[in-house]
Amino acid sequence: MTANHAEGVHEHDHDHAPITADVRPGYYEIMETALRELLIEKGLLTAGEIRRQLEVLDSRSPALGAAVVARAWTDPAFRQRLLENGRGACEELGITFYDDTDLIVLENTPEVHNLIVCTLCSCYPRPVLGLPPDWYKLKPYRARAVIEPRKVLAEFGTIIPDDVEVRVSDSTATVRFLVLPRRPEGTENWSEAELAALVTRDAMIGVIPVTLEQEAA
Ligand code: FE
Repeated sequence: MTANHAEGVHEHDHDHAPITADVRPGYYEIMETALRELLIEKGLLTAGEIRRQLEVLDSRSPALGAAVVARAWTDPAFRQRLLENGRGACEELGITFYDDTDLIVLENTPEVHNLIVCTLCSCYPRPVLGLPPDWYKLKPYRARAVIEPRKVLAEFGTIIPDDVEVRVSDSTATVRFLVLPRRPEGTENWSEAELAALVTRDAMIGVIPVTLEQEAA
């Protein structure tokens, strides 16, 4: 405690480095800054538009996809529309697509298990799931998901029986996929909101099923 301590004033007599961005930016950060500044300078975008778009991206989360899945489980007509036109059905629920990507919804059945990947980079159904997990963007998952999907699934704790086909769908810049997981048994009388709470991001990527014991998984 120092002598000049005043009531209500934050004492700052401890030592730490000044809080500044003194780490040199990396290659991609420099590229992003250069491109952003050029786009603004050329009048193609405004700083406000970029900020607004970032807010839109940050507003997306797997809760949106979970609501879509829960609706599909409880409303057979909606499920049909969802499988026929993923984007259109999501838009029915008020989910906007801020880009020109299409959405194909892949239904898991007792015969087929779907898994999604982007082998090239990190294409992902961001309008309905938000940002992808880090492992989705890393090379081991991107390469191995198509070469040895059963082994990758097993590492997530998901054992797919031999008589179930594993289908891997490779996302592109314009075509994104969302897995419609199987509805767990014992949820027949559950409300849509209760069902939505069961549906996880990873289940909509296809690496795990939806189960009643999410915590234990
Ligand atoms: Fe990609």
